[in-house]
Amino acid sequence: MVSDRRVLVVGSGPSGVHFAQTALSKGYQVTMVDVGREAPTPVMPEADLVQLKEELADPAGYFLGGSYEGVLLPDFDKEYYGTPPSKNYVFEDGARFAGSLEGFEPLFSFARGGMAEAWTAGCYPFNDGELTDFPFSYARLAPHYGEVARRIGITGEPDDLGRFMPLHEHLLQPLPLDTHSLRLVRAYERKRAYLNETLGAYLGRTRVATLSRDMDERKACTKLGRCLWGCPRGALYTPSQTVRTLQRHDGFRYLGGLEALRFQIGDNGRATALIARQVGGGEIQTLPTSQLALAAGTLPTAAIVLRSILAATGERVRLTGLMDNRQVLVPFLNVGMLGRPYDPASYQYHLLGLGLSDPDPRAYVHGQITTLKTALLHPIIQQLPFDLRTSLLVARATHSALGVVNVNFHDSRRGDNWVELEEGADMESPRLRIRYVPAADEPGRLHAALGKVRRVLRALGCVVPPGMQHLRPMGASVHYAGLFPMTTSGDGRWGTDEHCRTREFSNVLLVDGSTFPFLPAKNVTFTLMANASRVAAEAL
Ligand SMILES: Cc1cc2nc3c(=O)[nH]c(=O)nc-3n(C[C@H](O)[C@H](O)[C@H](O)COP(=O)(O)OP(=O)(O)OC[C@H]3O[C@@H](n4cnc5c(N)ncnc54)[C@H](O)[C@@H]3O)c2cc1C
Ligand code: SF4
Repeated sequence: MVSDRRVLVVGSGPSGVHFAQTALSKGYQVTMVDVGREAPTPVMPEADLVQLKEELADPAGYFLGGSYEGVLLPDFDKEYYGTPPSKNYVFEDGARFAGSLEGFEPLFSFARGGMAEAWTAGCYPFNDGELTDFPFSYARLAPHYGEVARRIGITGEPDDLGRFMPLHEHLLQPLPLDTHSLRLVRAYERKRAYLNETLGAYLGRTRVATLSRDMDERKACTKLGRCLWGCPRGALYTPSQTVRTLQRHDGFRYLGGLEALRFQIGDNGRATALIARQVGGGEIQTLPTSQLALAAGTLPTAAIVLRSILAATGERVRLTGLMDNRQVLVPFLNVGMLGRPYDPASYQYHLLGLGLSDPDPRAYVHGQITTLKTALLHPIIQQLPFDLRTSLLVARATHSALGVVNVNFHDSRRGDNWVELEEGADMESPRLRIRYVPAADEPGRLHAALGKVRRVLRALGCVVPPGMQHLRPMGASVHYAGLFPMTTSGDGRWGTDEHCRTREFSNVLLVDGSTFPFLPAKNVTFTLMANASRVAAEAL
Protein backbone atom coordinates (compact mmCIF):
# COMPACT_ATOMS: atom_id res chain seq x y z
CA MET A 1 0.00 0.00 0.00
CA VAL A 2 1.45 3.38 -1.03
CA SER A 3 0.96 6.28 1.41
CA ASP A 4 -1.33 9.07 0.17
CA ARG A 5 1.17 11.74 1.15
CA ARG A 6 3.71 10.64 -1.41
CA VAL A 7 4.19 12.05 -4.85
CA LEU A 8 6.40 10.82 -7.68
CA VAL A 9 7.72 13.65 -9.86
CA VAL A 10 9.35 13.18 -13.29
CA GLY A 11 11.85 15.90 -14.23
CA SER A 12 14.13 18.35 -12.40
CA GLY A 13 13.61 21.39 -14.66
CA PRO A 14 12.08 24.64 -13.37
CA SER A 15 8.59 23.09 -13.30
CA GLY A 16 9.55 19.90 -11.45
CA VAL A 17 11.72 21.47 -8.74
CA HIS A 18 9.22 24.16 -7.74
CA PHE A 19 6.35 21.66 -7.68
CA ALA A 20 8.54 19.44 -5.46
CA GLN A 21 9.55 22.28 -3.12
CA THR A 22 5.96 23.28 -2.43
CA ALA A 23 4.90 19.62 -2.03
CA LEU A 24 7.68 19.12 0.55
CA SER A 25 6.58 22.26 2.41
CA LYS A 26 3.13 20.64 2.73
CA GLY A 27 4.64 17.57 4.36
CA TYR A 28 4.64 15.32 1.29
CA GLN A 29 7.33 12.73 0.63
CA VAL A 30 8.70 13.49 -2.84
CA THR A 31 10.57 11.08 -5.11
CA MET A 32 12.02 12.71 -8.23
CA VAL A 33 12.83 10.54 -11.27
CA ASP A 34 15.18 12.29 -13.64
CA VAL A 35 17.57 11.52 -16.45
CA GLY A 36 19.56 14.35 -14.88
CA ARG A 37 22.83 14.75 -16.81
CA GLU A 38 25.21 16.79 -14.65
CA ALA A 39 27.10 20.00 -15.38
CA PRO A 40 30.91 19.89 -15.54
CA THR A 41 32.69 21.52 -12.58
CA PRO A 42 33.30 25.24 -13.30
CA VAL A 43 36.89 26.03 -14.24
CA MET A 44 38.78 28.81 -12.36
CA PRO A 45 35.62 29.98 -10.52
CA GLU A 46 37.03 33.36 -9.46
CA ALA A 47 38.39 34.32 -12.89
CA ASP A 48 36.68 36.78 -15.20
CA LEU A 49 36.39 36.21 -18.92
CA VAL A 50 39.65 37.96 -19.81
CA GLN A 51 41.58 35.98 -17.19
CA LEU A 52 40.08 32.76 -18.55
CA LYS A 53 41.26 33.63 -22.05
CA GLU A 54 44.74 34.49 -20.81
CA GLU A 55 45.31 31.85 -18.14
CA LEU A 56 43.53 28.67 -19.23
CA ALA A 57 45.91 26.04 -20.63
CA ASP A 58 43.59 25.50 -23.61
CA PRO A 59 41.29 28.53 -23.96
CA ALA A 60 40.22 27.55 -27.50
CA GLY A 61 39.11 24.15 -26.19
CA TYR A 62 37.09 25.80 -23.39
CA PHE A 63 35.40 28.47 -25.48
CA LEU A 64 35.02 26.65 -28.81
CA GLY A 65 35.33 22.94 -27.94
CA GLY A 66 37.97 20.29 -28.58
CA SER A 67 36.72 19.87 -32.17
CA TYR A 68 35.65 23.53 -32.51
CA GLU A 69 32.02 22.41 -32.18
CA GLY A 70 31.18 25.75 -30.51
CA VAL A 71 32.00 27.66 -33.68
CA LEU A 72 28.91 28.86 -35.54
CA LEU A 73 29.63 28.27 -39.20
CA PRO A 74 28.49 30.84 -41.78
CA ASP A 75 25.55 28.63 -42.82
CA PHE A 76 24.30 28.37 -39.22
CA ASP A 77 21.04 30.08 -40.04
CA LYS A 78 22.05 33.48 -38.66
CA GLU A 79 21.97 32.61 -34.94
CA TYR A 80 23.99 34.97 -32.76
CA TYR A 81 24.62 32.58 -29.86
CA GLY A 82 25.60 28.91 -30.15
CA THR A 83 25.74 26.41 -27.32
CA PRO A 84 29.18 26.67 -25.71
CA PRO A 85 30.96 23.35 -25.03
CA SER A 86 30.47 23.78 -21.25
CA LYS A 87 26.69 23.62 -21.85
CA ASN A 88 26.64 20.68 -24.28
CA TYR A 89 25.38 18.40 -21.50
CA VAL A 90 22.12 20.39 -21.42
CA PHE A 91 21.03 19.17 -24.86
CA GLU A 92 22.99 15.90 -25.03
CA ASP A 93 21.07 12.95 -26.43
CA GLY A 94 17.93 15.06 -27.04
CA ALA A 95 17.98 14.56 -30.80
CA ARG A 96 16.79 10.94 -30.52
CA PHE A 97 13.32 12.26 -29.57
CA ALA A 98 12.88 14.07 -32.85
CA GLY A 99 11.18 11.94 -35.48
CA SER A 100 9.73 13.53 -38.62
CA LEU A 101 9.39 17.25 -38.14
CA GLU A 102 7.41 19.69 -40.24
CA GLY A 103 7.77 23.40 -39.54
CA PHE A 104 9.22 22.82 -36.05
CA GLU A 105 12.80 22.45 -34.77
CA PRO A 106 12.54 21.29 -31.16
CA LEU A 107 15.20 21.05 -28.47
CA PHE A 108 15.06 18.48 -25.67
CA SER A 109 16.97 18.49 -22.41
CA PHE A 110 17.91 15.63 -20.10
CA ALA A 111 20.03 17.80 -17.82
CA ARG A 112 19.70 17.97 -14.05
CA GLY A 113 17.84 21.29 -14.00
CA GLY A 114 16.53 20.93 -17.57
CA MET A 115 16.77 23.56 -20.30
CA ALA A 116 17.09 26.37 -17.78
CA GLU A 117 20.67 25.26 -17.10
CA ALA A 118 21.30 27.18 -20.36
CA TRP A 119 18.70 29.95 -20.09
CA THR A 120 19.10 33.73 -19.96
CA ALA A 121 16.96 34.00 -16.79
CA GLY A 122 14.25 36.43 -18.01
CA CYS A 123 11.32 36.17 -15.51
CA TYR A 124 8.02 37.88 -16.33
CA PRO A 125 4.66 37.40 -14.61
CA PHE A 126 1.58 37.10 -16.86
CA ASN A 127 -1.17 39.67 -16.20
CA ASP A 128 -4.93 39.19 -16.08
CA GLY A 129 -5.32 40.00 -19.79
CA GLU A 130 -2.79 37.33 -20.74
CA LEU A 131 -4.48 34.83 -18.39
CA THR A 132 -7.93 35.32 -20.02
CA ASP A 133 -7.95 31.75 -21.40
CA PHE A 134 -6.66 30.23 -18.14
CA PRO A 135 -9.22 29.00 -15.61
CA PHE A 136 -7.86 31.40 -12.96
CA SER A 137 -6.71 34.99 -12.71
CA TYR A 138 -3.47 36.66 -11.63
CA ALA A 139 -4.62 36.71 -7.98
CA ARG A 140 -4.31 32.88 -7.80
CA LEU A 141 -0.75 32.95 -9.19
CA ALA A 142 0.49 36.07 -7.36
CA PRO A 143 1.51 34.33 -4.09
CA HIS A 144 3.41 31.73 -6.10
CA TYR A 145 5.20 34.33 -8.24
CA GLY A 146 6.24 35.92 -4.94
CA GLU A 147 7.30 32.60 -3.42
CA VAL A 148 9.34 31.56 -6.46
CA ALA A 149 10.97 35.02 -6.51
CA ARG A 150 11.88 34.54 -2.84
CA ARG A 151 13.40 31.15 -3.60
CA ILE A 152 15.42 32.02 -6.70
CA GLY A 153 16.08 35.79 -6.41
CA ILE A 154 14.63 37.97 -9.17
CA THR A 155 15.84 41.50 -9.81
CA GLY A 156 13.58 44.23 -11.15
CA GLU A 157 11.88 47.49 -10.26
CA PRO A 158 8.65 49.41 -10.85
CA ASP A 159 9.18 51.24 -14.15
CA ASP A 160 7.45 51.78 -17.49
CA LEU A 161 7.25 48.01 -18.16
CA GLY A 162 5.20 47.70 -14.96
CA ARG A 163 2.08 48.49 -17.03
CA PHE A 164 2.55 45.04 -18.63
CA MET A 165 3.95 43.16 -15.63
CA PRO A 166 2.32 43.08 -12.22
CA LEU A 167 4.64 43.77 -9.30
CA HIS A 168 4.83 40.66 -7.15
CA GLU A 169 6.64 40.26 -3.84
CA HIS A 170 10.35 39.71 -3.25
CA LEU A 171 11.91 41.64 -6.13
CA LEU A 172 15.60 42.40 -5.56
CA GLN A 173 17.36 45.59 -6.58
CA PRO A 174 18.28 45.46 -10.30
CA LEU A 175 21.81 44.77 -11.52
CA PRO A 176 23.78 47.89 -12.52
CA LEU A 177 23.41 48.97 -16.15
CA ASP A 178 26.35 48.79 -18.55
CA THR A 179 27.33 52.00 -20.37
CA HIS A 180 25.50 51.08 -23.56
CA SER A 181 22.24 50.13 -21.78
CA LEU A 182 22.45 53.34 -19.73
CA ARG A 183 22.75 55.35 -22.91
CA LEU A 184 19.62 53.68 -24.30
CA VAL A 185 17.73 54.54 -21.10
CA ARG A 186 18.80 58.21 -21.33
CA ALA A 187 17.68 58.37 -24.97
CA TYR A 188 14.35 56.76 -23.99
CA GLU A 189 13.80 59.36 -21.28
CA ARG A 190 14.25 62.14 -23.88
CA LYS A 191 11.87 60.48 -26.37
CA ARG A 192 9.42 58.96 -23.91
CA ALA A 193 6.35 60.97 -24.97
CA TYR A 194 6.77 60.12 -28.68
CA LEU A 195 7.54 56.44 -28.01
CA ASN A 196 4.67 55.93 -25.54
CA GLU A 197 2.01 57.97 -27.30
CA THR A 198 2.80 57.41 -31.00
CA LEU A 199 4.24 53.89 -31.00
CA GLY A 200 2.81 52.42 -27.79
CA ALA A 201 6.41 51.44 -26.94
CA TYR A 202 7.80 51.30 -23.40
CA LEU A 203 11.34 50.63 -22.15
CA GLY A 204 12.31 49.32 -18.72
CA ARG A 205 14.40 46.83 -16.83
CA THR A 206 14.06 43.16 -17.66
CA ARG A 207 13.32 41.03 -14.64
CA VAL A 208 16.11 38.51 -14.30
CA ALA A 209 16.86 35.63 -11.94
CA THR A 210 20.40 36.87 -11.33
CA LEU A 211 21.39 37.98 -7.84
CA SER A 212 22.32 41.56 -7.04
CA ARG A 213 23.16 40.47 -3.47
CA ASP A 214 24.37 37.23 -1.86
CA MET A 215 21.64 34.71 -1.05
CA ASP A 216 22.49 31.61 1.00
CA GLU A 217 25.32 29.80 -0.82
CA ARG A 218 24.86 31.79 -4.00
CA LYS A 219 26.95 34.92 -4.50
CA ALA A 220 25.92 38.23 -6.04
CA CYS A 221 26.90 38.94 -9.64
CA THR A 222 30.35 40.54 -9.76
CA LYS A 223 30.30 41.04 -13.53
CA LEU A 224 32.67 38.22 -14.49
CA GLY A 225 31.15 38.21 -17.98
CA ARG A 226 30.99 34.38 -18.13
CA CYS A 227 27.20 34.00 -18.13
CA LEU A 228 27.01 32.17 -21.48
CA TRP A 229 29.56 29.56 -20.37
CA GLY A 230 27.96 29.09 -16.94
CA CYS A 231 28.07 31.43 -13.94
CA PRO A 232 30.67 30.02 -11.51
CA ARG A 233 29.26 32.10 -8.60
CA GLY A 234 25.74 30.71 -8.88
CA ALA A 235 24.49 34.30 -9.27
CA LEU A 236 22.47 33.33 -12.35
CA TYR A 237 19.75 30.95 -11.13
CA THR A 238 19.61 27.40 -12.46
CA PRO A 239 17.17 24.73 -11.23
CA SER A 240 19.99 22.33 -10.33
CA GLN A 241 20.61 24.73 -7.41
CA THR A 242 17.09 23.94 -6.18
CA VAL A 243 17.76 20.19 -6.61
CA ARG A 244 20.68 20.63 -4.19
CA THR A 245 18.39 22.45 -1.73
CA LEU A 246 15.77 19.70 -2.00
CA GLN A 247 18.39 16.99 -1.43
CA ARG A 248 18.97 18.39 2.06
CA HIS A 249 15.31 17.67 2.93
CA ASP A 250 14.52 14.35 4.67
CA GLY A 251 11.35 13.89 2.65
CA PHE A 252 13.10 14.11 -0.72
CA ARG A 253 14.60 11.29 -2.76
CA TYR A 254 16.34 11.99 -6.06
CA LEU A 255 16.61 9.09 -8.52
CA GLY A 256 18.98 10.35 -11.23
CA GLY A 257 19.99 8.35 -14.29
CA LEU A 258 16.45 7.01 -14.73
CA GLU A 259 14.35 7.66 -17.82
CA ALA A 260 10.57 7.46 -17.35
CA LEU A 261 9.05 5.50 -20.22
CA ARG A 262 5.35 5.35 -19.36
CA PHE A 263 2.91 4.82 -16.51
CA GLN A 264 0.75 1.77 -15.97
CA ILE A 265 -2.98 2.40 -15.95
CA GLY A 266 -5.21 0.47 -13.54
CA ASP A 267 -8.84 -0.59 -14.05
CA ASN A 268 -10.13 2.60 -12.45
CA GLY A 269 -8.21 4.81 -14.93
CA ARG A 270 -5.60 5.72 -12.32
CA ALA A 271 -1.84 5.44 -12.79
CA THR A 272 -0.58 2.60 -10.61
CA ALA A 273 3.16 2.65 -11.38
CA LEU A 274 5.82 4.45 -13.35
CA ILE A 275 7.90 2.30 -15.68
CA ALA A 276 11.44 3.66 -15.97
CA ARG A 277 14.70 2.49 -17.47
CA GLN A 278 18.25 2.98 -16.27
CA VAL A 279 19.91 5.40 -18.69
CA GLY A 280 22.08 3.66 -21.27
CA GLY A 281 19.59 0.89 -22.07
CA GLY A 282 19.77 -0.67 -18.56
CA GLU A 283 17.38 -2.36 -16.24
CA ILE A 284 13.63 -1.60 -16.29
CA GLN A 285 12.19 -0.51 -12.93
CA THR A 286 8.56 -0.38 -11.78
CA LEU A 287 7.90 2.38 -9.25
CA PRO A 288 4.45 2.10 -7.60
CA THR A 289 2.65 5.45 -7.27
CA SER A 290 -0.57 6.85 -5.86
CA GLN A 291 0.14 10.37 -7.19
CA LEU A 292 2.21 11.12 -10.28
CA ALA A 293 3.36 14.57 -11.43
CA LEU A 294 4.91 14.80 -14.90
CA ALA A 295 7.29 17.74 -15.35
CA ALA A 296 9.53 16.38 -18.11
CA GLY A 297 8.95 19.42 -20.38
CA THR A 298 5.94 19.69 -22.69
CA LEU A 299 7.21 17.36 -25.44
CA PRO A 300 8.80 14.60 -23.29
CA THR A 301 5.71 14.69 -21.02
CA ALA A 302 3.54 14.18 -24.13
CA ALA A 303 5.77 11.23 -25.12
CA ILE A 304 5.27 9.60 -21.68
CA VAL A 305 1.47 10.02 -21.84
CA LEU A 306 1.26 8.83 -25.47
CA ARG A 307 3.31 5.71 -24.70
CA SER A 308 1.16 4.97 -21.63
CA ILE A 309 -2.01 5.11 -23.75
CA LEU A 310 -0.43 3.02 -26.51
CA ALA A 311 0.65 0.34 -24.03
CA ALA A 312 -2.74 0.27 -22.26
CA THR A 313 -5.10 0.45 -25.24
CA GLY A 314 -3.10 0.16 -28.46
CA GLU A 315 -4.42 3.60 -29.45
CA ARG A 316 -2.09 6.10 -31.16
CA VAL A 317 -3.31 9.50 -30.03
CA ARG A 318 -2.60 12.79 -31.81
CA LEU A 319 -2.35 15.76 -29.43
CA THR A 320 -3.24 19.13 -30.98
CA GLY A 321 -2.59 22.73 -29.98
CA LEU A 322 1.22 22.82 -29.78
CA MET A 323 2.46 26.38 -29.16
CA ASP A 324 5.82 28.17 -29.07
CA ASN A 325 6.78 31.84 -29.18
CA ARG A 326 7.98 33.11 -32.53
CA GLN A 327 11.21 35.05 -31.95
CA VAL A 328 12.87 37.54 -34.28
CA LEU A 329 16.40 38.84 -33.63
CA VAL A 330 16.88 42.48 -34.59
CA PRO A 331 20.57 43.51 -34.39
CA PHE A 332 21.31 47.23 -34.07
CA LEU A 333 24.20 49.67 -33.92
CA ASN A 334 24.09 52.56 -31.44
CA VAL A 335 25.78 55.45 -33.26
CA GLY A 336 26.63 57.26 -30.03
CA MET A 337 28.65 54.28 -28.79
CA LEU A 338 30.92 54.08 -31.84
CA GLY A 339 34.61 54.29 -31.02
CA ARG A 340 34.08 53.73 -27.29
CA PRO A 341 35.82 50.83 -25.57
CA TYR A 342 33.62 47.94 -24.42
CA ASP A 343 33.85 46.76 -20.85
CA PRO A 344 34.39 42.97 -20.59
CA ALA A 345 33.58 43.18 -16.87
CA SER A 346 29.85 43.25 -17.54
CA TYR A 347 26.78 41.10 -17.08
CA GLN A 348 26.41 39.44 -20.46
CA TYR A 349 22.69 39.03 -20.96
CA HIS A 350 19.79 41.47 -21.32
CA LEU A 351 19.27 44.25 -18.80
CA LEU A 352 16.57 46.17 -20.68
CA GLY A 353 13.20 45.16 -22.05
CA LEU A 354 10.94 46.67 -24.68
CA GLY A 355 7.15 46.31 -24.51
CA LEU A 356 4.81 47.09 -27.42
CA SER A 357 1.24 47.59 -26.25
CA ASP A 358 -1.85 46.44 -28.12
CA PRO A 359 -5.55 47.09 -27.45
CA ASP A 360 -5.83 43.31 -26.93
CA PRO A 361 -3.51 42.54 -23.98
CA ARG A 362 -3.01 39.01 -25.35
CA ALA A 363 -1.28 40.54 -28.39
CA TYR A 364 1.40 42.35 -26.32
CA VAL A 365 4.86 42.08 -27.99
CA HIS A 366 7.85 41.55 -25.69
CA GLY A 367 11.50 42.33 -26.45
CA GLN A 368 14.71 41.68 -24.50
CA ILE A 369 17.59 44.01 -25.37
CA THR A 370 21.13 42.64 -25.09
CA THR A 371 24.03 45.01 -25.60
CA LEU A 372 27.12 43.26 -26.86
CA LYS A 373 29.90 42.86 -24.32
CA THR A 374 31.73 39.57 -23.95
CA ALA A 375 29.79 37.38 -26.41
CA LEU A 376 31.74 35.70 -29.19
CA LEU A 377 32.02 38.03 -32.17
CA HIS A 378 32.43 35.49 -34.98
CA PRO A 379 28.68 34.86 -35.54
CA ILE A 380 28.31 38.60 -36.23
CA ILE A 381 31.49 39.06 -38.23
CA GLN A 382 30.56 36.36 -40.72
CA GLN A 383 27.23 38.00 -41.44
CA LEU A 384 28.74 41.35 -42.38
CA PRO A 385 28.57 42.02 -46.13
CA PHE A 386 32.39 42.44 -46.48
CA ASP A 387 35.50 40.29 -46.93
CA LEU A 388 36.98 38.79 -43.72
CA ARG A 389 39.65 41.45 -43.21
CA THR A 390 37.23 44.35 -43.59
CA SER A 391 34.57 42.56 -41.51
CA LEU A 392 37.10 42.10 -38.66
CA LEU A 393 38.01 45.80 -38.75
CA VAL A 394 34.36 46.84 -38.81
CA ALA A 395 33.43 44.46 -35.95
CA ARG A 396 36.28 45.70 -33.73
CA ALA A 397 35.43 49.33 -34.40
CA THR A 398 31.74 48.79 -33.67
CA HIS A 399 31.91 46.21 -30.86
CA SER A 400 30.70 48.45 -28.04
CA ALA A 401 27.93 49.91 -30.23
CA LEU A 402 26.32 46.57 -31.13
CA GLY A 403 23.21 45.10 -29.60
CA VAL A 404 20.29 42.85 -30.41
CA VAL A 405 16.59 42.94 -29.59
CA ASN A 406 15.03 39.49 -29.23
CA VAL A 407 11.39 40.17 -30.14
CA ASN A 408 8.86 37.60 -28.87
CA PHE A 409 5.32 37.06 -30.18
CA HIS A 410 2.34 35.28 -28.57
CA ASP A 411 0.92 31.99 -29.83
CA SER A 412 -2.49 30.33 -29.58
CA ARG A 413 -3.69 26.72 -29.83
CA ARG A 414 -4.66 25.55 -33.32
CA GLY A 415 -5.69 22.15 -34.63
CA ASP A 416 -3.04 22.21 -37.42
CA ASN A 417 -0.24 21.98 -34.87
CA TRP A 418 0.13 18.54 -33.38
CA VAL A 419 2.36 15.90 -31.83
CA GLU A 420 2.09 12.12 -32.08
CA LEU A 421 4.33 9.08 -31.70
CA GLU A 422 6.21 8.29 -34.87
CA GLU A 423 4.83 5.27 -36.75
CA GLY A 424 6.95 2.31 -35.68
CA ALA A 425 8.14 4.12 -32.53
CA ASP A 426 7.74 1.85 -29.54
CA MET A 427 8.46 1.96 -25.84
CA GLU A 428 12.19 1.84 -26.46
CA SER A 429 12.43 4.50 -29.19
CA PRO A 430 9.99 7.25 -28.36
CA ARG A 431 10.42 9.46 -31.42
CA LEU A 432 7.83 12.21 -31.93
CA ARG A 433 6.22 13.41 -35.17
CA ILE A 434 5.60 17.11 -34.91
CA ARG A 435 3.84 19.45 -37.29
CA TYR A 436 3.59 23.22 -36.89
CA VAL A 437 1.95 25.74 -39.23
CA PRO A 438 2.15 29.43 -38.26
CA ALA A 439 -1.10 31.36 -37.76
CA ALA A 440 -2.50 32.96 -40.91
CA ASP A 441 -2.17 36.44 -39.41
CA GLU A 442 1.48 35.96 -38.36
CA PRO A 443 3.15 37.75 -41.31
CA GLY A 444 0.99 40.85 -40.77
CA ARG A 445 1.61 40.91 -37.00
CA LEU A 446 5.36 40.49 -37.43
CA HIS A 447 5.57 43.14 -40.13
CA ALA A 448 3.72 45.72 -38.00
CA ALA A 449 5.64 45.00 -34.78
CA LEU A 450 9.09 44.83 -36.37
CA GLY A 451 8.43 48.13 -38.15
CA LYS A 452 7.73 49.64 -34.70
CA VAL A 453 10.87 48.08 -33.21
CA ARG A 454 12.97 49.70 -35.95
CA ARG A 455 11.28 53.07 -35.32
CA VAL A 456 11.94 52.72 -31.57
CA LEU A 457 15.61 51.96 -32.23
CA ARG A 458 15.91 54.93 -34.59
CA ALA A 459 14.41 57.20 -31.91
CA LEU A 460 17.02 55.85 -29.46
CA GLY A 461 19.85 56.82 -31.83
CA CYS A 462 20.43 53.33 -33.31
CA VAL A 463 20.44 51.97 -36.85
CA VAL A 464 19.35 48.49 -37.90
CA PRO A 465 21.83 47.16 -40.50
CA PRO A 466 19.89 45.94 -43.54
CA GLY A 467 19.60 42.18 -44.08
CA MET A 468 20.68 41.14 -40.57
CA GLN A 469 17.25 40.67 -38.97
CA HIS A 470 16.71 36.96 -38.28
CA LEU A 471 13.38 35.11 -38.08
CA ARG A 472 14.13 32.20 -35.76
CA PRO A 473 12.50 28.87 -36.70
CA MET A 474 9.55 27.67 -34.64
CA GLY A 475 10.90 25.56 -31.80
CA ALA A 476 13.89 27.85 -31.22
CA SER A 477 12.37 29.80 -28.33
CA VAL A 478 11.91 26.53 -26.36
CA HIS A 479 8.67 27.75 -24.78
CA TYR A 480 6.61 24.70 -25.71
CA ALA A 481 3.05 24.50 -24.42
CA GLY A 482 -0.59 23.67 -25.04
CA LEU A 483 -1.03 19.90 -25.63
CA PHE A 484 -3.28 19.20 -22.57
CA PRO A 485 -5.00 22.59 -22.00
CA MET A 486 -6.50 23.53 -18.66
CA THR A 487 -10.22 24.17 -19.01
CA THR A 488 -13.08 24.52 -16.58
CA SER A 489 -15.65 22.96 -18.90
CA GLY A 490 -14.35 19.39 -19.07
CA ASP A 491 -15.21 19.21 -22.79
CA GLY A 492 -12.98 17.40 -25.20
CA ARG A 493 -10.38 14.66 -24.74
CA TRP A 494 -6.89 15.22 -23.44
CA GLY A 495 -7.62 18.29 -21.38
CA THR A 496 -6.78 19.01 -17.75
CA ASP A 497 -8.74 20.69 -14.99
CA GLU A 498 -7.71 23.91 -13.26
CA HIS A 499 -5.31 21.86 -11.09
CA CYS A 500 -3.57 20.43 -14.18
CA ARG A 501 -5.07 17.02 -13.40
CA THR A 502 -5.60 14.94 -16.54
CA ARG A 503 -9.29 14.26 -17.09
CA GLU A 504 -8.54 10.67 -18.23
CA PHE A 505 -6.13 9.70 -15.39
CA SER A 506 -7.31 11.25 -12.14
CA ASN A 507 -4.05 10.86 -10.17
CA VAL A 508 -1.77 12.23 -12.92
CA LEU A 509 -0.84 15.93 -12.74
CA LEU A 510 0.93 17.64 -15.65
CA VAL A 511 2.94 20.44 -14.11
CA ASP A 512 4.98 21.85 -17.02
CA GLY A 513 3.85 23.95 -20.03
CA SER A 514 1.65 21.10 -21.35
CA THR A 515 -1.45 22.56 -19.73
CA PHE A 516 -1.17 26.22 -20.79
CA PRO A 517 -4.20 27.14 -22.95
CA PHE A 518 -2.51 30.27 -24.37
CA LEU A 519 1.10 31.44 -24.71
CA PRO A 520 1.68 35.17 -24.14
CA ALA A 521 4.74 36.82 -25.70
CA LYS A 522 6.58 36.96 -22.36
CA ASN A 523 9.12 34.20 -21.73
CA VAL A 524 7.17 31.49 -20.00
CA THR A 525 9.45 29.91 -17.38
CA PHE A 526 8.61 32.12 -14.37
CA THR A 527 4.95 31.22 -14.92
CA LEU A 528 5.86 27.52 -15.30
CA MET A 529 7.51 27.66 -11.87
CA ALA A 530 4.69 29.67 -10.24
CA ASN A 531 2.00 27.45 -11.74
CA ALA A 532 3.81 24.26 -10.67
CA SER A 533 3.97 25.63 -7.13
CA ARG A 534 0.25 26.58 -7.32
CA VAL A 535 -0.67 23.04 -8.42
CA ALA A 536 1.28 21.49 -5.53
CA ALA A 537 -0.38 23.92 -3.10
CA GLU A 538 -3.93 23.46 -4.41
CA ALA A 539 -4.12 19.92 -5.80
CA LEU A 540 -2.19 17.82 -3.29
C1 LIG B 1 19.24 29.07 -24.54
C2 LIG B 1 17.95 29.17 -23.79
C3 LIG B 1 17.57 30.37 -23.20
C4 LIG B 1 16.37 30.46 -22.51
N1 LIG B 1 16.07 31.64 -21.89
C5 LIG B 1 14.90 31.76 -21.21
C6 LIG B 1 14.57 32.97 -20.55
O1 LIG B 1 15.34 33.94 -20.51
N2 LIG B 1 13.38 33.04 -19.91
C7 LIG B 1 12.51 32.01 -19.92
O2 LIG B 1 11.41 32.18 -19.37
N3 LIG B 1 12.81 30.83 -20.50
C8 LIG B 1 13.97 30.68 -21.16
N4 LIG B 1 14.29 29.48 -21.75
C9 LIG B 1 13.31 28.38 -21.71
C10 LIG B 1 13.36 27.57 -20.41
O3 LIG B 1 14.61 27.00 -20.25
C11 LIG B 1 12.25 26.51 -20.43
O4 LIG B 1 11.00 27.17 -20.53
C12 LIG B 1 12.23 25.69 -19.15
O5 LIG B 1 13.47 25.10 -18.88
C13 LIG B 1 11.17 24.59 -19.21
O6 LIG B 1 11.11 23.99 -17.95
P1 LIG B 1 10.50 22.55 -17.67
O7 LIG B 1 10.81 22.23 -16.27
O8 LIG B 1 9.06 22.56 -18.03
O9 LIG B 1 11.23 21.54 -18.67
P2 LIG B 1 12.78 21.26 -18.94
O10 LIG B 1 13.59 22.42 -18.57
O11 LIG B 1 12.85 20.75 -20.33
O12 LIG B 1 13.16 20.08 -17.92
C14 LIG B 1 12.78 18.76 -18.17
C15 LIG B 1 13.38 17.83 -17.12
O13 LIG B 1 12.81 16.55 -17.29
C16 LIG B 1 13.82 15.55 -17.37
N5 LIG B 1 13.29 14.52 -18.28
C17 LIG B 1 12.84 14.68 -19.56
N6 LIG B 1 12.35 13.53 -20.02
C18 LIG B 1 12.49 12.62 -19.03
C19 LIG B 1 12.15 11.25 -18.90
N7 LIG B 1 11.55 10.58 -19.87
N8 LIG B 1 12.46 10.63 -17.75
C20 LIG B 1 13.07 11.28 -16.71
N9 LIG B 1 13.39 12.58 -16.79
C21 LIG B 1 13.10 13.25 -17.92
C22 LIG B 1 15.07 16.26 -17.83
O14 LIG B 1 16.24 15.60 -17.33
C23 LIG B 1 14.88 17.64 -17.19
O15 LIG B 1 15.35 17.59 -15.86
C24 LIG B 1 15.50 29.35 -22.42
C25 LIG B 1 15.88 28.12 -22.99
C26 LIG B 1 17.09 28.02 -23.67
C27 LIG B 1 17.46 26.70 -24.28
S1 SF4 C 1 25.99 36.28 -13.74
FE1 SF4 C 1 27.48 36.44 -15.40
S2 SF4 C 1 28.50 38.40 -15.03
FE2 SF4 C 1 27.45 37.85 -13.14
S3 SF4 C 1 28.95 36.78 -11.87
FE3 SF4 C 1 27.83 35.22 -13.07
S4 SF4 C 1 29.03 34.92 -14.95
FE4 SF4 C 1 29.70 36.82 -13.98
